[in-house]
Amino acid sequence: MYDVIVVGSGPAGITAAIYAKRRNLSVLIISKGGGTLDNVKIIENYYGFPKGISGKQLYTNGLKQADNLGIEIIKDEVLNIKKQNNFEIETVNSKYETKTVILATGTSRNTPNIKGIKEFEGKGVSYCAVCDAFFYKGKDVAVLGNGNYAIHELQELEPVVNSVTVFTNGEPIVENRDENINVNTKKIREFRGDNKLQEVEFEDNTKQPINGVFIAMGTASSNDLARKIGARIENNSIVVNKNMETTVTGLFACGDCTGGLLQISKAVYEGTKAGLAVLK
Ligand SMILES: Cc1cc2nc3c(=O)[nH]c(=O)nc-3n(C[C@H](O)[C@H](O)[C@H](O)COP(=O)(O)OP(=O)(O)OC[C@H]3O[C@@H](n4cnc5c(N)ncnc54)[C@H](O)[C@@H]3O)c2cc1C
Repeated sequence: MYDVIVVGSGPAGITAAIYAKRRNLSVLIISKGGGTLDNVKIIENYYGFPKGISGKQLYTNGLKQADNLGIEIIKDEVLNIKKQNNFEIETVNSKYETKTVILATGTSRNTPNIKGIKEFEGKGVSYCAVCDAFFYKGKDVAVLGNGNYAIHELQELEPVVNSVTVFTNGEPIVENRDENINVNTKKIREFRGDNKLQEVEFEDNTKQPINGVFIAMGTASSNDLARKIGARIENNSIVVNKNMETTVTGLFACGDCTGGLLQISKAVYEGTKAGLAVLK
């Protein structure tokens, strides 16, 4: 029986584990692996790295830091969490019992299977509006998605870019949106350009010039574990109070899975709060 099991080993999970461990709690991290940081080539806006740092390196540093403190880390995928008196965590390979759980599972960013997306990653295709909007100042961009996450990314882009269109790729757009949002529901055939993204071609053979596209295909999968145990989800994010407690006593959440700003600094801040709060 652990005092706390942290699910996820990204910036939020590792930070939460470090704070909990330093308060003498027995801590286990269960994680599938690198998560979001695996896809981040270079991070230039996080404190303390004047030349930037790759996502993979930052992830490895975090793991080492946890390991140095003697925190147990198991590579496995969590499938279910149940609560009776304590929590039971079911993974692909085993079951674990714990008094409290910290969910730090990030948010899933689905990449649709459209020709050109992979090719133009970092050359017009982005997954993070708050990270990359600056590079599209005064330009015409699109958000690919149809849910609340897509609208959130659009709102990050609007003050910086010339125009934003939401491409839903044949899906209906989320209902509770602002009517002034520019939406194109046509199915997309391909993203094109020479070295950089320049235009999108739709299935009906029409084209639209575009400088950048931000992928924001919101899925509920990062919230599945919280949902299964009955924690409240709103706008595709786990609802937490200021101590990172979910609506289920003993279940905490931190980082990207709680929504808001999808940045490392925010994940670390929330991980800190969760790691301190479990002691209480
Ligand atoms: C392309 C890109 C560029 C970015 N650039 C920047 C940047 O420049 N600056 C910045 O601050 N932020 C950037 N971000 C955002 C940043 O990476 C995230 O905000 C941050 O990683 C969130 O940390 P987290 O710990 O909440 O989640 P994650 O880092 O996503 O970690 C989630 C963890 O949960 C694990 N996990 C998930 N589900 C399960 C499960 N069922 N069982 C077990 N383990 C599970 C994963 O394996 C992973 O270890 C970028 C993101 C992307 C995609």
